[in-house]
Amino acid sequence: MPVEITMPQLSDTMTEGTVVKWHKKEGDKINSGEEVADIETDKATMPMEAFDAGTLAVIVAREGQKVKVGQVIGVIATGSEKPDEIKKKYASGTATAAPKPVEAPPSKPAPAPAAKPSSAPAKPGNYQFDIVVIGGGPAGYAAAIRAGQLKKRVLCIEKESLGGTCLNWGCIPTKALLDDGAFIRKLRLHAAEHGVSYKDLSIDFPKLISRSRAIADKLSKGIEHLFRKYEVKHEIGAGQLLGPHRVKITSAQNTREVTADHIIIATGAKATPLPGVAFDGKKIITSREAMNLPRQPKKIAIIGAGAIGCEFADFYNAVGTEVVVVEMLDHLLPNEDDDVSVLLERVFAKREIDVRVKTKTDKVETTPGGVKLTLSGAKPGVVEADVVLVAIGVSANTDGLLGSNSGLEIFKGRIKADPQYQTNLPNIWAVGDCVSLHWPPQEGMGGYRHPDLAHVAHHEAVNCVERIAGVSDHLIDYKSIPGCTYTHPQVASMGMSERKARELNRKLKVGKFPFSASGRALAMGEPDGFVKLIFDAQYGELLGVHMIGENVTDILAELVVAKKLEATEAEIIEAIHPHPTFSEAIMEAAGVADGRAIHL
Ligand code: FAD
Repeated sequence: MPVEITMPQLSDTMTEGTVVKWHKKEGDKINSGEEVADIETDKATMPMEAFDAGTLAVIVAREGQKVKVGQVIGVIATGSEKPDEIKKKYASGTATAAPKPVEAPPSKPAPAPAAKPSSAPAKPGNYQFDIVVIGGGPAGYAAAIRAGQLKKRVLCIEKESLGGTCLNWGCIPTKALLDDGAFIRKLRLHAAEHGVSYKDLSIDFPKLISRSRAIADKLSKGIEHLFRKYEVKHEIGAGQLLGPHRVKITSAQNTREVTADHIIIATGAKATPLPGVAFDGKKIITSREAMNLPRQPKKIAIIGAGAIGCEFADFYNAVGTEVVVVEMLDHLLPNEDDDVSVLLERVFAKREIDVRVKTKTDKVETTPGGVKLTLSGAKPGVVEADVVLVAIGVSANTDGLLGSNSGLEIFKGRIKADPQYQTNLPNIWAVGDCVSLHWPPQEGMGGYRHPDLAHVAHHEAVNCVERIAGVSDHLIDYKSIPGCTYTHPQVASMGMSERKARELNRKLKVGKFPFSASGRALAMGEPDGFVKLIFDAQYGELLGVHMIGENVTDILAELVVAKKLEATEAEIIEAIHPHPTFSEAIMEAAGVADGRAIHL
């Protein structure tokens, strides 16, 4: 079928453009992605590439001719049709060539080419892209890949490295460090029990860091490969929302605008500073610097005992740095079930981590040798350290994101979106850590809290694209988000804490199984931990999962699926769990809840 090349709309205000130059003449072969002409608007001259391969059958608009947006400027013969006949039709004005449905450009060789105005067939608004994604983290890259799989014309704009915080500065590099730390700790504290002795243990700190950086780099490159595979266009630059359908891209080379039917904002988040205490990147640092320090600190102070603070406490303690953790709330990991937090506190204390909960940081000062913290509350005093890691939470990346007339609504510094990812503007969506979620009042989800986790970002992004494409209206159950902390012992949870469940006045069945009774845990020399399951006593509904111990982050997925399939404690008990595994503790905990555990 012949495909019309039409004048693209390159901005919301553009109504016409001039064909400055044709790079092809009638009868020439065209490959998809090849530049066919240069188009001039009132703002810039840009090359236009063909989405379809074939033969340029007819040039309708000559060089120098002004053409209205959406009007045909040329036609490509893509199949067996004869270019001469197409030419005759267009010359006589009887052309009826129906535009082909919108489709993504076929594969192109690496690397993924930068976005250019395309000659994609006309569609409402005639935008260059079906979807433009701002941000290339777990939300942005997942959105872009899913859109590519669904044959959407998609562009992902990322200002740093593909993979975002998660791959480059979060989930992955920290896990590499934590695993190195666990290995070192095992040698230090437990080698003799395992019949291993050594003369001298030395740690090459820069090598630990460079191993984790290499893993991050490798995964980031993997995203580039997936982009090529799914024909996602990718551009390095800062995206700015100018308004519906319009995004400005500022890169080291230039600034230009692109248009899209839909825009997905996935710009993620960055570390929040303590009020009045600016990060200096050397002594007062974020997790980015903490995972990339040039030298191992002798002593580190950590403010904030959420997942990030506790993971760094675990790592630095394992490699032999003195660690102080300061937390204003009652416990380490204050969002976890109290039993879990208390056990982690006990383990940290055993390892001589100075844990100061219910303690407030009043002042942070830099000194010639490092930093000085003044504390009040349960464990007051002055703490001096080489560096202080501030890990009190994250704030959305919105700097420079919104053009002056974008009209996008922000709530408490984050992009306001509903649980269907819709912002206040049509066709503009937001997913991942940059979002402030808003539920209808009857949902009782506490207003606006968004779980800032990579897997949440990923699922929101995929759901959002499938919604846009009309292939699925699946949504996330925000009451059952799994969460993990990769300290040693690890922590994994989903759903309500016991305290929260009791506040609801529901009759509960609670089952707790300790790892000290698990053959697998004992064989591994890891007896610290337990699985605690909370069920509704009447219906057997799984309300909460709280686990601490080795490998619990991996066995959590069983309970995520159980919850999704509405499994009861009886069904969990009756499902055969392989022996010897940590997962048996799940079956046993359900057994304790139901009064029929075998090993307790
Ligand atoms: P991000 O990953 O932050 O990606 C956003 C991207 O957008 C960035 O690459 C940024 O450069 C880019 N960007 C921003 N503004 C613009 C713009 N204007 N134009 C173009 N690009 C822009 N989560 C877990 O689930 N498990 C973990 O174990 C875990 N560990 C973590 C450890 C640490 C130390 C940290 C800091 C976080 C951790 N997280 C973890 C959280 C996880 O990293 C985030 O939830 C996840 O990365 C959010 O994904 P996102 O795509 O929304 O944002």
